[in-house]
Amino acid sequence: MQLEQLGEFALIDLIKQDTINKPDSVIVGIGDDAAVLNSTPGQLQLVTTDMLVEKVHFDLGTSTAWQLGYKAIGVNLSDIAAMGGIPRNIVVSIALPKELPVDFVVNLYDGMKEICREFDVNIVGGDTVSSPHGLIINVTVIGEVDPKQLQRRSGAREGELVVITGTLGDSGCGLDLLIKGNWEGYESAALLVERHLMPKPQVHIGPLLAAFGSTSMNDISDGLASEVNEIALASHVGMRIYREKIPLSSELRTAAALLEKSPVEYALYGGEDYQLLFTIPPEQFNQLVEADIGVPLTVIGEVINQSQGTLLVDQDDQTSKLEAKGYNHFR
Ligand code: ADP
Ligand code: MG
Repeated sequence: MQLEQLGEFALIDLIKQDTINKPDSVIVGIGDDAAVLNSTPGQLQLVTTDMLVEKVHFDLGTSTAWQLGYKAIGVNLSDIAAMGGIPRNIVVSIALPKELPVDFVVNLYDGMKEICREFDVNIVGGDTVSSPHGLIINVTVIGEVDPKQLQRRSGAREGELVVITGTLGDSGCGLDLLIKGNWEGYESAALLVERHLMPKPQVHIGPLLAAFGSTSMNDISDGLASEVNEIALASHVGMRIYREKIPLSSELRTAAALLEKSPVEYALYGGEDYQLLFTIPPEQFNQLVEADIGVPLTVIGEVINQSQGTLLVDQDDQTSKLEAKGYNHFR
């Protein structure tokens, strides 16, 4: 069945099922003029939104509806984590071509509901409209953060360490593999492609790093180079990043070699890894390592004086400026 046969209100009825995973943070969910939410006393509210447009952010030739739903929510949860907070409630607005099969929308929401279940968040509302040209999805997440643990880009200080969770570059390489289309001989392709289509946001890790004393944080949406520069600019500091220390997966190294690309370039400029980049004083970092929080943590550099700039150091100690190039919509 197509949407034009089902209609808007029957579609919303379908969407409404299984949207509440944490009932104590919502009084009214889908079904009234506005959602009514509970906030935890003493916590600050966080709000973030991201819009995904067909052919700009995703291609239905390479992503399933389910994966798209999962990612649309995931990238927003990642932004809440990067503020040191916990996601609570979500609104989702969609613009849909009327020829779209109803099943497509059901699968899209099943992907969204899966990640919402994983992280205990509710879908409490949204808007549904028709679109003459392709699919548009807008997700807004409301979260909470303890004021003492709020992670702004402006908190980095000279002498602190620059640290990254997990590995970088997989998602960018996965996208290149998707575009190339033929992965014969690429053993690691499936994993890299999955990292691109269904990135895992560090939802529990962001607040944990903040509790251990991180001072600034960004999630890696636009590539390491861009994120490092954002923190440096907001904090009025310089950064020294060591190329050799940037953590890369063995799958990325293998696939990049076959593609005749540099794996570290994917890490620096590829983006969409949704790992967390943070700064932290050395003593706090030692405590974090001792606590063993279950994700790889790699020191990739240090915060230096603003007058020194944002630098990339090569294996032979050659230093160059770390340019903030990455994805930019209008350029
Ligand atoms: P109104 O006309 O008052 O804006 P709607 O008919 O647009 O109400 O929506 C009815 C209910 O369904 C509201 O609670 C709204 O938040 C929710 N809703 C509409 N579209 C979506 C969607 N795509 N995802 C989740 N909730 C939705
Ligand atoms: Mg409406």
